[in-house]
Amino acid sequence: MVEQLPNEVQRLVHLAEQFLQDEIYPREAQLPASEDVPESIRQAVIAASREAGFFCKTQPVEYGGNPASTLELTALRETWAKANSKLTAYLFGPGPGVLHQARGALKKYYLDPVMKGEKRGAFGFTEPDHALRPTWALLQDDQLLINGQKSYITGGATADFLSILVNVEHPNGEKAGTAMVVVDRQAEGVVLEKSFRSMEGGGHSSFLFKDVSVSRDQMIGALGEGMPRALANIGNVRLMVAAQATGMCLWVLSFVEQHLRAPHRSGTPLGNKEGVRLRYADMRIKTFVARSALYRAARIVDSDQNSVNEVIATKVFCTETAGEVIDMAVQLVGGQALVEGHPLESLYRRVRSLRLIEGANDLLRINLVKGRLELDKGTV
Ligand SMILES: Cc1cc2nc3c(=O)[nH]c(=O)nc-3n(C[C@H](O)[C@H](O)[C@H](O)COP(=O)(O)OP(=O)(O)OC[C@H]3O[C@@H](n4cnc5c(N)ncnc54)[C@H](O)[C@@H]3O)c2cc1C
Repeated sequence: MVEQLPNEVQRLVHLAEQFLQDEIYPREAQLPASEDVPESIRQAVIAASREAGFFCKTQPVEYGGNPASTLELTALRETWAKANSKLTAYLFGPGPGVLHQARGALKKYYLDPVMKGEKRGAFGFTEPDHALRPTWALLQDDQLLINGQKSYITGGATADFLSILVNVEHPNGEKAGTAMVVVDRQAEGVVLEKSFRSMEGGGHSSFLFKDVSVSRDQMIGALGEGMPRALANIGNVRLMVAAQATGMCLWVLSFVEQHLRAPHRSGTPLGNKEGVRLRYADMRIKTFVARSALYRAARIVDSDQNSVNEVIATKVFCTETAGEVIDMAVQLVGGQALVEGHPLESLYRRVRSLRLIEGANDLLRINLVKGRLELDKGTV
């Protein structure tokens, strides 16, 4: 455990580790070899998490939640990732995401059912490279007429609704700014173009929007607030990705340590070879630094200071570190690590997407320097 955590966070991490022993590892051992988790096991994990009080940690009080601080959530997320189990994906309940502060019909028909687990939304931001123009909406009277495309919507094919970013225009062509708009997946004109899987196992879809007509009430927040709303929650998500990355590193360090201690065909364990020790040292050094950044960033977020640049720095560093650490683990474990079904093989596939999601790392670097040179933000 990271030192000098407040007592309540330490207690939470102990509970989380015990929960993994009691509820997750035994079920993990029952999982079939396929990528998909049987529904009965998923439901059992959710029930156990509710009972233990973890499920409600990402949910607002008004929905019966008991939201954790950023430091607590970071410690929990890292602990879950350290287990290297598919089942930890179900431990936290749904959060409001871009729908937070939704009012009226949006609250009744989307936010409330999402929080009760009755509906699921997906997020449409990324556009294809061949798009002639970004997705746009014509605002006429109280209706929005949407046309365009979104190329990479995780969980889009099975979602009940899509929250998409659009550029709004008046009929005279005047630009009215961006908006986040909720569109039912089954609405007329919403065309599921293609579904695909990415190498880490996630399911995604691309969609076309052809004259999709929705009421202005389907807009989340005010006109012009689309981009800030789309990005409002992204700092939390970036820190979540960083915590997942350092958790992966911790699992890898322990796995490789066992490998280095085990007998090797050369007659001496690999851990006795100096060259191997150098490589393993680098893995530990990088993980130590990444975790130090992660917990420092979480504390900065909890202090309510502007933390955009610190969270960016942490996401970039932790995800790149995890990539390097897992790559080196494959090297030290050898050919067996690349055999389908080996835990390092799937981790190697899963870690790659972290450098692209929630802001491609080089774009985040550019934003970080903009924050410094143009906005005078950011600490080191
Ligand atoms: C697993 C996964 C899940 C995803 N889920 C979703 C989702 O639910 N919803 C959604 O909307 N999107 C989703 N995406 C898409 C993701 O947000 C994009 O892949 C990511 O933002 C990068 O955009 P892009 O793929 O269009 O690449 P591009 O924007 O074309 O960038 C490719 C590369 O070009 C370089 N580059 C681009 N622009 C610049 C620049 N200005 N300066 C310097 N370098 C630059 C960078 O190296 C960058 O990595 C998901 C992606 C993955 C891998």
